[in-house]
Amino acid sequence: MAGLSPERLAEVKDRLLSRKRNLWLEVKDQLKTSIGDGYQEMLATARDEEDQATVSLMAETSLTLLGPKRQELEAIEEALQRLETGSYGLCEVCGQPIQPKRLEIMPEASLCRDCASQREKLAKATGR
Ligand SMILES: [Zn+2]
Repeated sequence: MAGLSPERLAEVKDRLLSRKRNLWLEVKDQLKTSIGDGYQEMLATARDEEDQATVSLMAETSLTLLGPKRQELEAIEEALQRLETGSYGLCEVCGQPIQPKRLEIMPEASLCRDCASQREKLAKATGR
């Protein structure tokens, strides 16, 4: 554990879940606008399994406009998994606890500040 109290972890989980729900609603809206009737069909068959529906809908649609939201949803999903396994709050690169302030702002963060900025630099360097 990364020194986070059970209360804090429960709070984080709540935040992640409500953020996921909001994102999911936004994604649904976007899909509705982009795919139209086909989407309604997909949704009608998938309504009971919203989580799976998110995954399969997004797997089936390679809409670039969903990019950032899709990434955020995936990050949230991973953070929720880390909450389950008890590795939440630890940087996945260096294994050090992620700064509490950082988690406060970005509860789905999986990297500490240093590793995140390093990765950004790397992405910028290789992205050109
Ligand atoms: Zn790190």
